[in-house]
Amino acid sequence: MKTTTSKKLFAAAQRVIPGGVNSPVRAFRSVGGHPLFIKRAKGSRLYDVDGNGFIDYVLSWGPMILGHAPAPIIRAITRAAAHGTSYGAPTELEVRLAQMIAEAVPSMQQVRLVNSGTEAIMSAIRVARAHTKRDGVLKFEGCYHGHADYLLAKAGSGVATLGLPDSPGVPRDFARHTLTAPYNDIAAVQKLIEAHAGELACVIVEPVAGNMGVVPPHDEFLPMLRTLTRKHGILLIFDEVITGFRVHYGGAQALYRIMPDMTCLGKIIGGGLPVGAYGGARELMQQVAPAGPVYQAGTLSGNPLAVTAGIAMLKELQTPGIYRKLEERARVLADGLGEAAKKAGVPLIQTRVGSMMGAFFTKEPVVDYATAKQSDTQRYAKFFHRMLGKGVYFAPSQFEAAFLSTAHTPRDLTQTLATAYTVFRAL
Ligand SMILES: *Cc1c(COP(=O)(O)O)cnc(C)c1O
Repeated sequence: MKTTTSKKLFAAAQRVIPGGVNSPVRAFRSVGGHPLFIKRAKGSRLYDVDGNGFIDYVLSWGPMILGHAPAPIIRAITRAAAHGTSYGAPTELEVRLAQMIAEAVPSMQQVRLVNSGTEAIMSAIRVARAHTKRDGVLKFEGCYHGHADYLLAKAGSGVATLGLPDSPGVPRDFARHTLTAPYNDIAAVQKLIEAHAGELACVIVEPVAGNMGVVPPHDEFLPMLRTLTRKHGILLIFDEVITGFRVHYGGAQALYRIMPDMTCLGKIIGGGLPVGAYGGARELMQQVAPAGPVYQAGTLSGNPLAVTAGIAMLKELQTPGIYRKLEERARVLADGLGEAAKKAGVPLIQTRVGSMMGAFFTKEPVVDYATAKQSDTQRYAKFFHRMLGKGVYFAPSQFEAAFLSTAHTPRDLTQTLATAYTVFRAL
C-alpha cells in the first residue's frame, strides 16, 4: 500500500499540530505507524490522499450510521448553508431537533443543544451538582465521558479508590470529587454509594461501554444502578453519546427499559457535524440559564447547519426496520469474524450490542476494564495493520468499538470476512 502522501502530510502536521492530530486516538499510537490522511468518503468507503480505498468500520468513531456522505443529509446541509451558517439567535430548526430528541428519548423532557459530547456531559454534571447540592461523581473504570478535568480520573488498583488525576493539568482538588468503580461490579458500586451517599451528585455510566472496546452491561447492572441512585437521591446520568440512536432509536435506555434522570447525546445526533445534547426532567432542566441559575452557553450552540444535519439524520433513522437490518448485518459480521478466528485458531472474545461491536484478542470473558486489558494488544496491532493493508479500516486501538452503517453491503461483509480469515491465519 502506497502511503507517501500521508507520511508527508503527517510530518507537516506534526510541526504545527501537537502529535499531528486534533484528537489523540487518530494518531495510531497504540498500533504503531502513522495515520492515513483522508481525502473523501462515500457510503461504506473511506479514501486516503494516496488513492487507497477502505471499507470503514470506524465511521468517524460512531456518528456515520448511514455511511459517509448520505444523500439526504448532504442535500439538507447544502440547502441550509445557502441561508447562512450562524445567526446567534434562535431558529425553528433547534426547536424541531429538540422535539425529535424528546420524542425519541422520553426521559429528556427538555433538551439543551451544545457542540460536543464533552460539553453535554460537563453541563449535565453541573446541573446534577446544582440540583443535589453535592459535588461527588461516580464513574466507571474504562468509561469515557469526554475530557472535562474531573472526568479524567480513574481508579488505581483495587476494587474502588478515590480518583487520582489521569492527566497533568488536572488539579487534585478536581479529581478528588470523582469516585470510580469497576464496570458491571454491583457489589463495589453498592459499597461506594453507601459509603459516600451524602457526597454524590450523580452516577454517570455508558449504558453499553464503548470506550474499552464494547462491554455490554450485565442484566442486573443498570437496574441496580437505578435502584441504588433513587434510594439515595443521587442522579443517574446515562452517557449515550455512542449508544443514542445507535443501539435503538430511543438509545440504550429504550433497549434496556431504564429511565435515567439525565441523558447526554452526541455523535449520531449531529449527522457528522458537531452537535451534543443533554436533557432530563423539566424540573431539572429548568435550572439551566436563562430559565434558572446554572450557567451554560455557546456561541455556535444549535448551529443551523449542524442542527439541519441532525434533523435529516433522525428522519432517516425513523425508517421502519432500519435498526433490525443493521443488527442482522452486524450479527453476520460478528459471527463471521468469530468463525474465521476459530478456524484460524486465534482466541477472540466478541461482544456486540446492535451494530456496535468489540473483538478482544483474549481467551477470558470481557466484563470490565481489567478483563478488557487482558487483551493481546500487540496481536491487535498486527491484525489492524494487515487488515488496513488489505483495504479494511478498523479502529487503530484494541479498545475502540467497531461500527456498522446502513451503507455496508452484504458484499462488503463477505469481503471483510474473507480478508479477516486470511489475516487471522497469518497472525
Ligand atoms: C465520544 C464520546 C464522548 C465525547 O464526545 P466528544 O463529542 O468527542 O466530546 C463522551 N462520551 C462517550 C461515551 C463517547 O463515546
